[in-house]
Amino acid sequence: MISINDILNKEELSREDIIRLLSIVDSDEHKQLIKKAYSIKEKTVGKKVNLRGLIEFSNRCQKNCLYCGIRSGNDKVIRYSLTDEEILKVTEFALTNQFTGIVLQSGEQSHPDFIKRITGLISKIKQTTYPDFRITLSLGEQTFDTYKEWFDAGAQRYLLRIETSNEELYKKIHPSNEMHLYKTRLRCLQDIQKTGYQTGTGVMIGLPFQTTDDLADDLIFIKQRSIDMVGMGPYLEHADTPLFKYRGLLLPLIERFNLSLRMIAVLRLLMPMINIASTTALQSIHPFGRELGLKAGANVIMPNLTPAKYRGSYRLYDNKPCIDEEADECITCLSTRIKIFGEEISYNDYGDSIHFINRERYRIDKSK
Ligand code: SAM
Ligand code: SF4
Repeated sequence: MISINDILNKEELSREDIIRLLSIVDSDEHKQLIKKAYSIKEKTVGKKVNLRGLIEFSNRCQKNCLYCGIRSGNDKVIRYSLTDEEILKVTEFALTNQFTGIVLQSGEQSHPDFIKRITGLISKIKQTTYPDFRITLSLGEQTFDTYKEWFDAGAQRYLLRIETSNEELYKKIHPSNEMHLYKTRLRCLQDIQKTGYQTGTGVMIGLPFQTTDDLADDLIFIKQRSIDMVGMGPYLEHADTPLFKYRGLLLPLIERFNLSLRMIAVLRLLMPMINIASTTALQSIHPFGRELGLKAGANVIMPNLTPAKYRGSYRLYDNKPCIDEEADECITCLSTRIKIFGEEISYNDYGDSIHFINRERYRIDKSK
C-alpha cells in the first residue's frame, strides 16, 4: 500500500488517495496529515484567525430535516425571532469588538414578509455600520430573485450546506417531499454562486449510512464546484429527531471528531486558498475542538453572539456548547484559547476568501 508520506508529497490527490487519508487509523499517520495541512495553511491563508459574529436570529423553520433539533415537527421547541432592534444591538457589539462582519442564520422561511424584512435589515445593518461591513446569510433555500434581492441590498456571502453530496443519502436524512429535494439544494447553490456571493457550503460528517467514499466525494464536490468557503462538522444526534433511532450506527464521538479533523486537513490540501470554518459542533465533542480545527487547517471561527436568553432554543443537536454564556464572555475566553494554540485573531480584516478574490479577478479578466 502507498505510504501516507508519498500521498502527502503528491501534487494532485486522486479519489483513492483521499479515501486513504480519511481512513487513517494510526495516530502517527493522523498527526502527519494534520501537520502537512497546517504547513499549507501557514503558507497560504496564514496563521491568523478570522472571526465572524454569528446571530441565530430565529428558530422558526418551514422544513423538517430529519437530523435537526429545530425542525418544524419538533413541538418541544419554544420558537423565537429577534426583533430588528435586537439584531442591530448585536451588530453594534460586533462592531465595537472589531468584527468586520456578521452571519445572519435562521431556520428556513420564504414568506414574502420574511424576504422583505431581511432586505430591510441588510440595509439597516449597512447604515449602522459601514458599506463594506460583511454580511453573510445562512437562510436556506430561496429563489434566484430572493438571493439577488439580498445581494443587491448589500449581503456579500451566503452559506448553504449541501449536507451530503450523495443524493441517496440526502434522501435518507430528509423527508421525501417537494420541500426537501436534493436537486433544489443543488439549484440553490448554483444560484448563489451565479448571483455573485462568496459561496459557502459544507457537509455533516459521521451521518448514519454515510461511508468514507461518500465523504471523499463530498470533498471532490466542493473542489469541482469551486466553492469559496466551507463549514463542515460532525453530525451530532438530537433526541427529538427521527434520525436519533439510528444512533447505534454512528461512529464513537471521538472517532467522528478525528474524522472531522481529517476532512478539514484533506480539504486544505485540495483547496489551499479557501476559507474553512472550525465549527461549534467540533467544540461540542472536545473542549478544544475549534482550536484543534485551526491546527488541522481551518482559519475561520464564528463566535456565537446570539443573546444568551435565546441560545437554548437554537439547539440543533444535544450538548451544544456555550449556551449560557453572553457573547462578551465567549470572546474573551476564545481569544486567550486561540493564542495558546499559537494563532492570532486578525482584527479589522475582512478575511475574504482568497479563492473568491482570484475567481472574481479571473471572471473580470475574461469579460474584458
Ligand atoms: N436553515 C438553514 C439551512 O438549513 O441551511 C440554516 C440553518 S441550519 C440550522 C445550519 C446547519 O446546521 C445545517 O446546514 C446543518 O448542516 C447543521 N445541522 C443541523 N442539524 C445538525 C445536527 N444534528 N448535527 C450537526 N449539524 C447539524
Ligand atoms: Fe430547518 Fe435548517 Fe434545521 Fe433543516 S437544517 S430543519 S432547514 S433549520
